Amino acid sequence: MPNRPLPPDLRPETLLVHAGTLRSEFNESSEALFLTQGHVYETAEECERRFSGDEPGFIYARFSNPTVAMFEARMAALEGAGAARATASGMAAVTASLMGQPTAGDHVVAPRALFGSCLYVIEELLPRFGVESTLVDGHDLDQWKAAVRPETRTFFLESPANPTLSVVDIAGVATIAHEAGATLVVDNVFATPLWQRPLELGADCVVYSTTKHVDGQGRCLGGVVLASKEFIATHVHNFLRQTGPAMSPFNAWIMLKSLETLSVRVERQTETAGLIADALAGHRSAEAVVYPGRADHPQAELIGRQMKAGSTLVAIGVAGGKAGAFRFMNALRIARISNNLGDAKSLVTHPATSTHQRLTPGQREAMGITDGLVRISAGLEHPDDLVADFLRALDAV
Ligand SMILES: *Cc1c(COP(=O)(O)O)cnc(C)c1O
Repeated sequence: MPNRPLPPDLRPETLLVHAGTLRSEFNESSEALFLTQGHVYETAEECERRFSGDEPGFIYARFSNPTVAMFEARMAALEGAGAARATASGMAAVTASLMGQPTAGDHVVAPRALFGSCLYVIEELLPRFGVESTLVDGHDLDQWKAAVRPETRTFFLESPANPTLSVVDIAGVATIAHEAGATLVVDNVFATPLWQRPLELGADCVVYSTTKHVDGQGRCLGGVVLASKEFIATHVHNFLRQTGPAMSPFNAWIMLKSLETLSVRVERQTETAGLIADALAGHRSAEAVVYPGRADHPQAELIGRQMKAGSTLVAIGVAGGKAGAFRFMNALRIARISNNLGDAKSLVTHPATSTHQRLTPGQREAMGITDGLVRISAGLEHPDDLVADFLRALDAV
């Protein structure tokens, strides 16, 4: 039997290695890369049955492919979701989760502190199709409540938020959404499926950019939407199938094989991020060190309730504003300047002049993005080498 069923109630580390594997007639040990746009049918009748849905099976890679299906099944098992759909990028997953639900006249609520492209979809794209949005301070549950209208259809949030690492009470927001007859979508990129389980906290849908920790080695773009079977069938499947932002089988194969090592990498990177945060806190050139795993995070109590561990990211406020931040970044010898995160290589980003450059100074201030803010993504290098690199660069400020 090529596909032996797995026992129930397995832990994440085991699911990451085995869940979703579909072995072909050759019984390969490593998951196969099915680099094909489609499939042939033995007879015209079989083709007819596939298209009518009377017979399960693969048809066309825009909406299903064996390698992509393995990746989707493994992600769904890890997340505890009924179904998953992979997409070409994280933004394709965010867009599908937001465009697939509302119709003209509906309303969407989200926090101000969002990834720049998510902000574009909510503030600029949806309104062009008659879907209005309200932006709130994510940490203030009263603002979420006050934003509700009779036509509110969905809430969207990111926690911890990029790049400030501020946290939103997911269970609290889910309750407000459901009382309003709306759904909640959570972008869980910063927490990873290992440290935060939005579906268990009441969210209806979870999205990831798998470009980040899932690939974890900076190679491929990808995304995934996870929810109940019904949510995916009603809001996501047809939108993706007909509009076409599909994950390529090649990228799915990279992501699938990367999942095998996700827990080892994320655990190590989280531990290292904590060591970096502890080492930099109190340095005279670090005005602020924000790390979700530290007791001095402004929302430490909430983090203790909804996250299993901190994050692979640290935010620091470097003294001297933009000039100080640039001196710090330019003095680094190991960590590199880039905009990816969750990568094996430690990376630093200056949000005010890169990922959030498009915003006005007022918008950045409202989101807590100061000119001295630098986001650190801890990689897989030895933590002592990294701590020495960051401390030496701070000394140079
Ligand atoms: C990177 C990122 C995205 C977008 O993902 P892409 O794969 O770059 O399209 C969305 N949300 C968050 C929080 C991200 O960090």
